[in-house]
Amino acid sequence: MPGHDIHIIGGGLAGSEAAWQLAQAGHKVRLSEMRGSGEMTPAHQSDRLAELVCSNSFRSDDADSNAVGLLHQEMRALGSLILTQGDIHKVPAGSALAVDRDGFADGVTAALEQHPNVTIVRERVDTLPAEGRTIVATGPLTAPLLAESIGRATGKDSLAFFDAIAPIVHRESIDMETAWFQSRWNKGSGKDYINCPMSKEQYLEFHAGLMAGEKTEFREWENVPYFEGCMPIEVMAERGVDTLRYGPMKGVGLDDPRTGRWPYAVVQLRQDNASGTLWNMVGFQTKLKYAEQVRLFRTIPGLEKAEFARLGGLHRNTFLRSPELLDSTLRLKSAPHIRFAGQITGCEGYVESSAIGMLAGRFAAAEIAGQMLAPPPRETALGALLAHITGEAEVDTYQPMNVNFGLFPPIEGRTKKADRKRMYTDRARAALKDWLAA
Ligand SMILES: Cc1cc2nc3c(=O)[nH]c(=O)nc-3n(C[C@H](O)[C@H](O)[C@H](O)COP(=O)(O)OP(=O)(O)OC[C@H]3O[C@@H](n4cnc5c(N)ncnc54)[C@H](O)[C@@H]3O)c2cc1C
Repeated sequence: MPGHDIHIIGGGLAGSEAAWQLAQAGHKVRLSEMRGSGEMTPAHQSDRLAELVCSNSFRSDDADSNAVGLLHQEMRALGSLILTQGDIHKVPAGSALAVDRDGFADGVTAALEQHPNVTIVRERVDTLPAEGRTIVATGPLTAPLLAESIGRATGKDSLAFFDAIAPIVHRESIDMETAWFQSRWNKGSGKDYINCPMSKEQYLEFHAGLMAGEKTEFREWENVPYFEGCMPIEVMAERGVDTLRYGPMKGVGLDDPRTGRWPYAVVQLRQDNASGTLWNMVGFQTKLKYAEQVRLFRTIPGLEKAEFARLGGLHRNTFLRSPELLDSTLRLKSAPHIRFAGQITGCEGYVESSAIGMLAGRFAAAEIAGQMLAPPPRETALGALLAHITGEAEVDTYQPMNVNFGLFPPIEGRTKKADRKRMYTDRARAALKDWLAA
């Protein structure tokens, strides 16, 4: 690629942040963005770089007790363009960081247009480049021809076009006096699942709650098909009162230690990350509204005090099986000249997408300079998110994920719940300081 050190495809949040990091490190960047060339995604409305497609919030800005607030702080420390422009265009939103979306996107666009090391080209890219350093940051609505090319390069079933997310619960919030560890018929280790039992009355009430609960509508352009394997739980419930009891909620082969019998129905949770801090409600992908999910799922015995690392959903969303396909610096293992960044890696959210763009840019910048940049430590928000994407998450149930404390290595020893978040964030700040010093 004459005249450029690296080609970035996609000028959304991740691509813009990656371009900035590389340009600031002195490397020449070609940034290809299809909007502005007569192309548009179904969600964007302008040709500005880093356009926010929905809400104008970067969520909590509290760096002491919130994982996304900590991620803001770490990104500021690393000279993030997205956070700099977010801070400049901040609007009042309590403890959250919300922005004037037009001013924000104009600010990002101007910063990159004016940077001497960045060339912005308004063009659609249809194939993965066969050579030359590249970062692909084309987001959840990657244009179809490029998605096909990525699919061909990464293999069958490696690229998903919809997320079907079942809620994920923090392990420490599950009441193990009521729930118990056991796999059906004691298969595998015999203890692979957490089981939450239901009596007949509890099941019937829960079924009625699913039927009555308020649901989110699909967007007109989403046109989401219901695959049998990821059908929303409430759609299954509509098929008959016993459908769930003979499907994902069947109690057979599970011995409730409190009664010595199989429960009438059961909600099973499966481990979702290697450290066992996060557990996935099996078969519970749903279009119920978030508040409704929290209310209804806390009626499940054992989950009365459940804290959710993420709630369920079903959307159009293009993302890779990253834990299997990407190495620890976001390179495609089968074609290491290509890195992926942003939501297409399976992170979720504006801030997370930008953070992964930032890391992809920094890894590439170090590589061009003939150096090797170690990934940030797992104890930091950047490191926890990166580790989740690049290997820590369970591949078979991999679904897009926001940053949360469940991704961090657990704090050892007995601690007061009220102190724990502060312990995570203090530990992260110390670890980031050491990493930056190194
Ligand atoms: C409808 C919708 C609503 C969302 N709402 C929120 C929300 O409210 N809050 C939140 O935190 N997150 C939200 N997200 C999730 C996510 O944070 C955003 O999608 C975010 O913009 C992802 O950043 P990104 O840089 O990975 O992708 P994007 O910001 O989408 O950037 C990708 C860019 O690549 C370009 N592109 C695509 N294909 C090509 C190609 N072949 N050639 C050249 N350019 C190409 C696109 O035009 C786009 O500019 C939403 C996602 C969707 C789909």
